[in-house]
Amino acid sequence: MTTAALRGRFAPSPSGRMHLGNVWAALLSWLSVKSRGGQWILRIEDLDPGRSKEEYARLIEDDLHWLGLDWDEGGLSAEGPHAPYVQSLRSGLYADAFRKLEEKGLLYRCRCTRADIMATQAPHQADGRVVYSGRCRPSARPPFTLSDERGAVRLCVPDREVNFTDALFGPQSFNLAQQCGDFVVRRADGAWAYQLAVVVDDAEMGVTEVARGCDLLFSAAQQLYLYDLLELPAPEFLHLPLLCNASGQRLSKRDASLSLEELRKHRSPEEIIGYLAHLAGLIPRPEACRPADLLEAYDLRKLPCTNNITDIAPTI
Ligand SMILES: [Zn+2]
Repeated sequence: MTTAALRGRFAPSPSGRMHLGNVWAALLSWLSVKSRGGQWILRIEDLDPGRSKEEYARLIEDDLHWLGLDWDEGGLSAEGPHAPYVQSLRSGLYADAFRKLEEKGLLYRCRCTRADIMATQAPHQADGRVVYSGRCRPSARPPFTLSDERGAVRLCVPDREVNFTDALFGPQSFNLAQQCGDFVVRRADGAWAYQLAVVVDDAEMGVTEVARGCDLLFSAAQQLYLYDLLELPAPEFLHLPLLCNASGQRLSKRDASLSLEELRKHRSPEEIIGYLAHLAGLIPRPEACRPADLLEAYDLRKLPCTNNITDIAPTI
């Protein structure tokens, strides 16, 4: 692969203001591709109409500019070439991929309620992931014909290992049938499911490296299965440690003092970037700096290879 083709991305959901954990993922994704002369794109993942707000998308863009994490040109967007990609404008692409899966006879309708799924699930995984029992799966073998009824649409998964090598965590092996079961590609309300949209987008946008929190390590296996079925080129994966608060929970909107809204009141962007660069092992002390100042210091081998970085104080 030539460095000119190297492309990373940051893909936040506009369901709230960014917090320190989001900035951590954005910074390391940016550094990973920029330190090698690659491009970095921004994609707003607003497929969940109940949680997404246009206002938050604007604030995410503003926060990234303020931090010095600028993105390269987008593409299919209503707002011009430098606007980010926006998933809600890309439904046609997801529909095409969905039809391809339907033609393979791998989709079926699931009418289970949340309560049905919990009552019939196989033993759930340590991370709380529910394993769908296959309750609505047709009894005959695929190919299936997708009915026109209401309900979510699930993709039939094989009982075999999906193997890949994560850039930080090394060799990984997951069995989709045993560890998640047939998964949803279109929700009962018609919204495209995360896994389908992400795969279609990353392939269509030419993304070669997906850097994101290690809570999505398992998702990589689901996505690799989709890349395979859709005959699309798969990216490399770089999963990152999660920043956790003093109670050991990953940072979220609950940790209000670490949201950009609060941090911007009393910290400069350089202080925030310096703090994170120090946590990542890139600089010896948390000294104020810009992302661009870290391009030479960035080295994947310096990153902590751990699931959680704990004890992030409520203020930095
Ligand atoms: Zn079902």
